[in-house]
Amino acid sequence: MCGIITPMKIISLSLLSILLFLGCGPAPDTRCGQRLNKERPSWLTVEDIQIAEDALLTEIPNLADPRINNPDVACAWLDGLIVTAMPNPTFIDDWGRTVSGIAFPGVDLWLDKHISGGSIAVGNYGTWQKSALIHEYLHIMQGTVGAPPCRRGDDPHCGWYLPKGPYEIIELVNKH
Ligand SMILES: [Zn+2]
Repeated sequence: MCGIITPMKIISLSLLSILLFLGCGPAPDTRCGQRLNKERPSWLTVEDIQIAEDALLTEIPNLADPRINNPDVACAWLDGLIVTAMPNPTFIDDWGRTVSGIAFPGVDLWLDKHISGGSIAVGNYGTWQKSALIHEYLHIMQGTVGAPPCRRGDDPHCGWYLPKGPYEIIELVNKH
């Protein structure tokens, strides 16, 4: 029988490949599915991003933006997000600007559609509350379109100063 592939063996092999496939890749670091980039010497820990995530989900119902002000919806947008802690407070982004944080919201290039995940980098201000972490989370969740009634092509911070806008909510979250 050795070397002969029977139907039973094919079934076992398929199950094995499914199990191997499911086992691929590192497990997420937070309950919503964020991952901390471990290649950097980090002032930001896995515990920090879990606390920040929980604080954001607690305060998100206070946000006026109806697209993302539900904790389950907000959580789903963070699934697959890669967080990189930069060593210094500011850094130079891909466009030569000096920034303290940057967000690349997830994009399905085929469908030209905003999807969950993406990546952010945040400068080192000692604690997550003093960094741009929550600011960048909100960019990830809103995509490139700010608070309603802002539209695609507007500044991504459009509407952020409105009552119950992102800037007000960031302050609330950073008090946690
Ligand atoms: Zn911003």
